[in-house]
Amino acid sequence: MAEMIAAALDLGLTGIAFTDHAEWYPGDPAYGFLDLDAYFSELAQVRELYDGKMRVLAGIELGNPHDFPTEAQAILAYPFDLVIGSVHWLDGLPGWEHSLFKSGLAAAYQLYFEELIKMVDGADFDILGHLDLVRRDSWTLFGETLTLDAFREPIQVVLRHLIESGRGLEINTSGLRKGLPEPIPGSGVLHWYRDLGGEILVLGSDGHRPEHVAFGFDTARDIALAAGFHRIARFENRTVVDWIEL
Ligand SMILES: [Zn+2]
Repeated sequence: MAEMIAAALDLGLTGIAFTDHAEWYPGDPAYGFLDLDAYFSELAQVRELYDGKMRVLAGIELGNPHDFPTEAQAILAYPFDLVIGSVHWLDGLPGWEHSLFKSGLAAAYQLYFEELIKMVDGADFDILGHLDLVRRDSWTLFGETLTLDAFREPIQVVLRHLIESGRGLEINTSGLRKGLPEPIPGSGVLHWYRDLGGEILVLGSDGHRPEHVAFGFDTARDIALAAGFHRIARFENRTVVDWIEL
C-alpha cells in the first residue's frame, strides 16, 4: 500500500482507494487471497503515515457477489468506504478463457450483460466495476471487440437500475494498458448513462502494481467530459460525501 501511495503522491493525487479482490470461485487467480485483518491493519498504518497528504479509502471489489450472497454479506460487515461489484465469471467460466466465446463474440457479450443485470439486482455494492469487461477479454483473446449498439437494451437496464438505486459507474482504465483504444466503459456507454440521468462516476486504474496507479486517467477524464460529466464522486462510508471537479 505504501508503494502505491508513493506512486499516487508522485502523480499529484490526493486520494486513493484500495479495492482488493474478494473472489469465491476456486479457479479465480485471486481466490483465497483476501485477508481482511491484514488488509485493515496495513490500511491503518498507511493512513497514519500519510495523514494530511493522502486520503486512503477502504475499498473492496466483490467478484460475482450475487452468486455468493452469504459470503459477500459477511465481508460487508467491515468498515468499507467503497464497494465495487464486478462480474468476472459467467456460467462457471471466467471471462478470460476461450471457452466462454465458443458460440461467438456476440453470444458471450450478451451473456455478460445479462449477468450484469443479475448482479445489479441481486447484490449490495456502490459502484459497478468495468461495465463492459467482456470487451477487454475479447480484445485480449482475439484482438477484436464488438460495438455495443446491439447490446443497448440490457446495458440500459443495468444503467437504469444503478441510477434508481443510487449507485454509480467506474471508468476502468486497465484496457488502455492492454492497447484498447477506450477505457471500460467507453464513450458510448457514458453517453447513455448521462442521458438516463446518471451522475455518480469514479475513475479506477485497476492497478495491481505501483506503475499502474492512475494509468490513462487523462484519457478517462477527456471521455467523461465529452459525455457531459464534469465531476467524479468521492466516497466515504459507502456514501458520496463530495465531488471532485474533472
Ligand atoms: Zn474486476
